[in-house]
Amino acid sequence: MPFEHYKEVDLSSRNTLGLPSVSQYLGAFHSVSDLQHAFEFARNLSLPCFVMGGGSNILLPEYLPGLALLSSDRSIDIMGDEVTVGAGASWDNLVAETLKNGLFGLENLSSIPGTAGAAPIQNIGAYGVELARFVVSVEALDLQNGLAVTLTVDDCQFEYRDSLFKRHPERFVVTRLTLKLSTRFAPILAYQDLQRLPAQITESAEGLRRAIQSIRAKKLPDYRVFGNVGSFFKNPTLMKSVIQTLEQAQVLNSNTRSAQGKVSAAALIQAAELGDLSVGQAGISPKHHLVLENRGGATLTDVLTLAHLIQEKVERRFGVTLEIEPQQLTQLIHAPNPKG
Ligand SMILES: Cc1cc2nc3c(=O)[nH]c(=O)nc-3n(C[C@H](O)[C@H](O)[C@H](O)COP(=O)(O)OP(=O)(O)OC[C@H]3O[C@@H](n4cnc5c(N)ncnc54)[C@H](O)[C@@H]3O)c2cc1C
Repeated sequence: MPFEHYKEVDLSSRNTLGLPSVSQYLGAFHSVSDLQHAFEFARNLSLPCFVMGGGSNILLPEYLPGLALLSSDRSIDIMGDEVTVGAGASWDNLVAETLKNGLFGLENLSSIPGTAGAAPIQNIGAYGVELARFVVSVEALDLQNGLAVTLTVDDCQFEYRDSLFKRHPERFVVTRLTLKLSTRFAPILAYQDLQRLPAQITESAEGLRRAIQSIRAKKLPDYRVFGNVGSFFKNPTLMKSVIQTLEQAQVLNSNTRSAQGKVSAAALIQAAELGDLSVGQAGISPKHHLVLENRGGATLTDVLTLAHLIQEKVERRFGVTLEIEPQQLTQLIHAPNPKG
């Protein structure tokens, strides 16, 4: 079957940072068999391949030589307390759909942009909840042997904003995932912002979802106004002694570090007084110091130069290394499988 594809596709409206980018080829896949055809097409033309979702956690170069692949499987199938979702479904639609069907658990993950297929890549998390706690299995094409595989939650090796998939982007293309949810609503309100909410709001999952949507809208800049990828740096985990020193210096306090030693990268950037830093049209959002924004016409070089400046200044000031969260697609080339 021929693989349907487009040539020289403008991706600037397909990445939330709004970086100018053109992909040499772009094609969609619905099934593993479509993917196998796509890789055959790529092999024949010696094209590197890479997979993207909604473009909300990637840094695109101006030109992507190769074949960009997107899932068009937006199916959501509910069976009892389990839901199986296609990689191309919008994550937030999935959250809304599960709540509508009386399945609970995903409400704290409301309003995270992007697709369901990308959710396991960095084990999305927000407001004290991570995807990993719901995952039954992830279906993927294993590019090492060209076969469809079903990975269990343990196989996925989920960690904070990390997984097997993120560590081996050349190996797996996620096609579907199955999550186990709860038929009983048990709100998770450990996160500080949620503790302050009145009980009548948090007594229903819809109420909690609306509250989280509203908190996020207030805290985070709208990527449709100023392009961004949400948090640009991961929150680092530091040793107790380092946290104590930073607390004594009034850089951190009980609100900006967790009992497990994770500290707010935004607090470090703020304490380093970097809020006004900008490079070209890339700057730090005045709404949230962890968000780098495109003020109109920023290039990948602007964004990365700004990010490296922030890393350098935070490291020099506090001895803490900040790790960049979004993926640079140039590092994410899926080598076409020679055996597939
Ligand atoms: C305003 C804003 C707020 C955000 N808030 C949060 C938040 O609270 N918590 C959080 O965790 N993240 C957050 N993010 C980051 C982002 O939304 C998530 O990481 C999301 O899961 C990315 O989905 P995507 O479909 O846009 O993936 P993309 O950005 O297109 O891709 C991200 C990575 O996944 C890979 N990938 C995508 N699909 C597949 C697939 N099917 N198979 C294999 N690899 C694949 C890509 O190659 C790339 O490495 C936020 C982003 C924005 C813009």
